[in-house]
Amino acid sequence: MSAGYILAIDQGTTSSRAILFDSDENIAGIAQKEFTQHFPEPGWVQHDALEIWESQLAVAREVLKHSGIPAAQVRSIGITNQRETTVVWDRYTGKPVAPAIVWQDRRTALFCHKLREEGHEPLFRERTGLILDAYFSGTKIRWILDNTPGARAAAEAGDLLFGTVDAWLIWKLTGGNVHATDASNASRTLLFNVHTLSWDEELCRILDIPMQMLPEVKDSAGDFGHTEEEWLGLSVPIGGVAGDQQAALFGQGCMEPGMAKNTYGTGCFMLMNTGEKPVPSTHGLLTTVAWKLNGKAAYALEGSVFIAGAAIQWLRDGLGIIRSAEDTESLARSVKDTAGVYFVPAFAGLGAPYWDMEARGLISGLTRGTTAAHIVRAALESLAYQTCDILRAMEKDAGMDMNTLKVDGGAARNDFLMQFQADVLQVLVSRPHNTETTALGAARLAGISAGMFRMEDFMKEGNFRSFRPVMSAGEAGAKYAGWQQAVRRSFHESSTDQAADQ
Ligand code: ADP
Repeated sequence: MSAGYILAIDQGTTSSRAILFDSDENIAGIAQKEFTQHFPEPGWVQHDALEIWESQLAVAREVLKHSGIPAAQVRSIGITNQRETTVVWDRYTGKPVAPAIVWQDRRTALFCHKLREEGHEPLFRERTGLILDAYFSGTKIRWILDNTPGARAAAEAGDLLFGTVDAWLIWKLTGGNVHATDASNASRTLLFNVHTLSWDEELCRILDIPMQMLPEVKDSAGDFGHTEEEWLGLSVPIGGVAGDQQAALFGQGCMEPGMAKNTYGTGCFMLMNTGEKPVPSTHGLLTTVAWKLNGKAAYALEGSVFIAGAAIQWLRDGLGIIRSAEDTESLARSVKDTAGVYFVPAFAGLGAPYWDMEARGLISGLTRGTTAAHIVRAALESLAYQTCDILRAMEKDAGMDMNTLKVDGGAARNDFLMQFQADVLQVLVSRPHNTETTALGAARLAGISAGMFRMEDFMKEGNFRSFRPVMSAGEAGAKYAGWQQAVRRSFHESSTDQAADQ
């Protein structure tokens, strides 16, 4: 490894962050700035793309200033970003033509429904690995073109550009010289064929999106141009780009098929590396590009749990039986088990692998002996069981066994939860000391381009704490069977019979 620093730009849904890593991957500085969330109508979520850019530039300058590291020592910039969020801007003025539509925004749900009714879903699913949902960029671009005066004509004339947030930042940083994205971000648009690794003409035609708006799709580690001198005082190469979840997978060192990471936040985000071929899912998981390096893509299966840490928040704010999320650990340990209590936090329906949007939460197995500690313990265990549900589905889809689960996110700090996770999965759970895995992933990609890091470096055992299963397989299986029974009880009545057959 050679000296110098990498500047990781971590553009998230609620804040813009900049993190400096030295050549040993130590953090030399962090700056962070929140920006405004706009909710103009029910179900709509917007960002001001210019505010994203300005806050991102501000934190990049701030981290350099506060750490005292001159920009000349920054060898490369890595960008990781909130995925799917859609920006459309004018290539001549550099101004967004509409507010950025955020991944959470549901305004195109009806349009997606119509496309499904017209029978388009199998084609999108087969080519993009995604489901036809408002979450992804494609229908958001279409909405902007249809609802912004003059936008469609301007797009057809080649005057408008589309980008996910990475492409927008690259374009701004390079002073409009480079309009590019990486394959991991492209694979979240509904327009990208994950088999040919190129924009798909037919899908663009169905969504009525002029292809000249689309950015060039590059390897995740490569040449994304140089920053304008005025931004950081001198020109710095941009060498790495990946969407946030894929960057976390990379930052966690999940380079080989069968390796998976789970981020325990409000919800859980799980990705499993499935290797060189895209694996279709029969359990409602997504197929996505993990990264593209040296012209070759690595793929992943992706699944998410809607309510994870949010269940802990509910114990605090809804039930009032804990004061802080940290309290859950000692309370859970104060009882030897849940005494048969299961907590199914289906507050917003159930996602993969159950897909029952009408399911609702429940606490089962209550007796006169049940205490708050049992309920808290059952809530924590529900995070582990839901993770298990998705990982088992991934293993079935991929036809491979997971060997280690790498973890990060706020609730991964809970040692009780991590031990229970290892027990119920019967695999090693590994938590890195450096929990900035997303930014680290972007920094590693940029470091590869700059010749600072080599892939082999990421395969080594890093600095982490591991949790090994101590529960017997029989006991784990019995507990998990109890969970599956409780989940069935939470199904919407009309789907109970169907689900029981699965
Ligand atoms: P997000 O990025 O989704 O906001 P974070 O990664 O910051 O989430 O994690 C916060 C979530 O983790 C909250 O929902 C909180 O309830 C949960 N959490 C934080 N610390 C703990 C803990 N020690 N035990 C269990 N849950 C926790």
